[in-house]
Amino acid sequence: MLFEDLSLSKSIQRAVFEEGYLNPTPIQEQAIPVVLAGRDLIGCAQTGTGKTAAFAIPIIHQLHRIVGSSKKAKQIRALIVTPTRELAVQIGQSFDTYAKYTNLTQLTIFGGVSQNPQVETLKKGVDILVATPGRLLDLHKQGFLDLNHLHVLVLDEADQMLDMGFVNDVKKIVKLTPKNRQTLFFSATMPIAIRELAEMFLTDPETVTV
Ligand code: AMP
Repeated sequence: MLFEDLSLSKSIQRAVFEEGYLNPTPIQEQAIPVVLAGRDLIGCAQTGTGKTAAFAIPIIHQLHRIVGSSKKAKQIRALIVTPTRELAVQIGQSFDTYAKYTNLTQLTIFGGVSQNPQVETLKKGVDILVATPGRLLDLHKQGFLDLNHLHVLVLDEADQMLDMGFVNDVKKIVKLTPKNRQTLFFSATMPIAIRELAEMFLTDPETVTV
């Protein structure tokens, strides 16, 4: 399969082509059509499989169609929650890369640094927010985050979030988002505790394993 077979908008195809990607990886080939169809997804995949692009590319495609080049006020329409600062930064860079020919903007927020630059960008408005759980809840509590316009929520590295003790934070975050959202749930492993968590958050999900 080629990327051009996935019916992605030209601006995304161009960015992907410039990265030198010709063929989607197995997780991308299976997950991208499911996400484009608006379905909830459980993706069982490790880092290094191309998992980030498997959710970033179809999210950008959908938001680009909704927001397009309109001058509508920016609202957080996609939220990606991931356990560590390093992962958050990598995911944010991927969104920047694949969205570079769209008008979509992303912000990456994490703890351990001053919140002021993050808050300043939030006040200007972003379409896509990548966040670690603690800083996300902290900024929400202070009233800097509106998640009521969210279309899609990604819970990345769910098993690692559980191991790091973020389970209650994740539950709180999910409660802050609209019920009719699309939810994408990624985990490298699928022990019973993770399956139960997925069942709490997802509606009739499609499962993809690589
Ligand atoms: P990830 O699993 O998301 O951490 O991605 C692992 C690496 O694979 C990243 O450096 C990506 O830039 C690269 N990558 C992702 N998708 C593709 C693809 N379809 N073709 C070639 N490289 C890719």
